[in-house]
Amino acid sequence: SVSTADLVAWIRAFRDAVQQHKDELTRLDSEIGDADHGSNMARGLDAVVAKLEPVPDTPADLFKTVGMTLVSSVGGASGPLYGTLFLRMGPALAAGGEVDADALGTALRAGVDGVVARGKAELGDKTMIDALSPALDAWDTAAGDGPAAAARAAAEAAARGRDATEPLVARKGRASYLGERSAGHLDPGASSATLLLEALRDTLA
Ligand code: ADP
Ligand code: MG
Ligand code: MG
Repeated sequence: SVSTADLVAWIRAFRDAVQQHKDELTRLDSEIGDADHGSNMARGLDAVVAKLEPVPDTPADLFKTVGMTLVSSVGGASGPLYGTLFLRMGPALAAGGEVDADALGTALRAGVDGVVARGKAELGDKTMIDALSPALDAWDTAAGDGPAAAARAAAEAAARGRDATEPLVARKGRASYLGERSAGHLDPGASSATLLLEALRDTLA
């Protein structure tokens, strides 16, 4: 099963991946947004990692800290949305219960449902939901094979969902102001959401 230390390692790996891809995320956002997605996410995740000493006692404590820190330290649309994702995850885990593939899948789904409730994006609107939603479906399908297999399937589905945003016309967020001109570019948030699932895959491997 998945330990609190594994989940802390996941969040650290996500921070590292965002730092590594910061310029690329910002470049994507410069094409259809306001060129700050890389810096927004990097700033928020640096603030998160600064709060991981001492290490939170439980997965629920960890996710609460991550969520609250992202909400308060990222100015753009992505801060409250990623913050909501993590804030919804903790309460979806049974207190003190083992975190297996099913439990983590349930928590992730609660998180993604929270992002949808807050941002009102549907599949195909060219947002982070286009990576997250198929990732969750793939997770559920593979969960019987354990967390490592579920995370592998989810990361692959997220990447496919991200790639599928390229031809889409954005219907949510700043990119939607461009109308048809938003087509032909990958969505920055779907790209960072793919890094989130890839970090989980790499951590649980
Ligand atoms: P901002 O657009 O406020 O500058 P960011 O650049 O950090 O914020 O994040 C932009 C990303 O946020 C988009 O690429 C998209 O994936 C995501 N996003 C924007 N609005 C929504 C929404 N309503 N629902 C889901 N995701 C959204
Ligand atoms: Mg932006
Ligand atoms: Mg902005």
